[in-house]
Amino acid sequence: MLTDETRPKVLIIDDEAVNIDVLAGLLKPDYRIVSAKSAESAMQRLESPPLPDLILLDVIMPGMNGYAFCEMLKSNHRTRNIPVIFITSSSSEEDETRGFAVGAVDYIAKPYRPAVVSARVKTHIELKRRGEMLERLAILDGLTNIPNRRRFDQFMEYEWCRSLRFGHTCSVLLMDIDFFKLFNDHYGHAQGDHCLKEVATAITRALPRTMDLAARYGGEEFACVLPETNLPGGQAVAERILNAVRSLAIPHAQSKTAEHVTMSIGIASMTPTLGKQPLDLINQADQALYQAKRNGRNQIATLDVA
Ligand code: GH3
Ligand code: MG
Ligand code: MG
Repeated sequence: MLTDETRPKVLIIDDEAVNIDVLAGLLKPDYRIVSAKSAESAMQRLESPPLPDLILLDVIMPGMNGYAFCEMLKSNHRTRNIPVIFITSSSSEEDETRGFAVGAVDYIAKPYRPAVVSARVKTHIELKRRGEMLERLAILDGLTNIPNRRRFDQFMEYEWCRSLRFGHTCSVLLMDIDFFKLFNDHYGHAQGDHCLKEVATAITRALPRTMDLAARYGGEEFACVLPETNLPGGQAVAERILNAVRSLAIPHAQSKTAEHVTMSIGIASMTPTLGKQPLDLINQADQALYQAKRNGRNQIATLDVA
């Protein structure tokens, strides 16, 4: 049996206590069971996290029925991905079709065989977990394990819209390791990869807030989105990052700026307007980065376009 925290959570919704008891008895060895006797009280349960990994749902209940409840779950982004299985004595073809139409992943007619219920619950929880794992992998960089370019672009777009709506200023940092080609040439590609991982970790640790995002932008370039942050705020973060990377003290005998691996950082800040796009802000940060390189590397350069 799994420990309580790691066991998947199953929510059983049925207006008859005896039905809940039978299902709970069947699933209790493998799952954390919570229950509700109406759609309305299930809604309250769903407000406090963690959300269940699966819902077993009765169709006919006083108040909101199972179909309407399932439709509601599927129209809310928070609950949309929870698989719903109907368990019901309404077993006509029409009922079953309706269950799938409102978004259920499975439909079990009563009387059911307990082993079949267990097997289907297990299958759908595994499918959900695999889907979540794939989603996570799709937005992580394979080498450094931090968010990848795709995630950066998604997040930038989302944050841009939010800043536009609320009139916030957003800052972007673009970072590039200095003389990294020479590092690879001198120490080899494997050491180069190791260096990229350490730098990625140092950047992530140097970010002060959970809202901030650091990503591998490509090659030896990294990028940060700092929501609700103006230029001085962005500069403070960039300095922390620059120092964090210096403090790693990774030897770089071929560097022309220091004895250790260093970075150059370009910062741009913008308060989004309708005529502008996320790419404008990124381009400004890129110009600032170019400036930092031209000014001698191992430093920060800024462009304020507020
Ligand atoms: P600058 O100071 O102007 O930025 O010079 P640089 O040598 O860092 O820049 P350049 O763009 O000439 O070279 C980048 C190097 O980064 C070349 C490439 O081999 C290396 N690189 C890119 N991605 C990876 C990677 O995933 N692993 C390793 N080991 N090296 C990489
Ligand atoms: Mg580069
Ligand atoms: Mg470089």
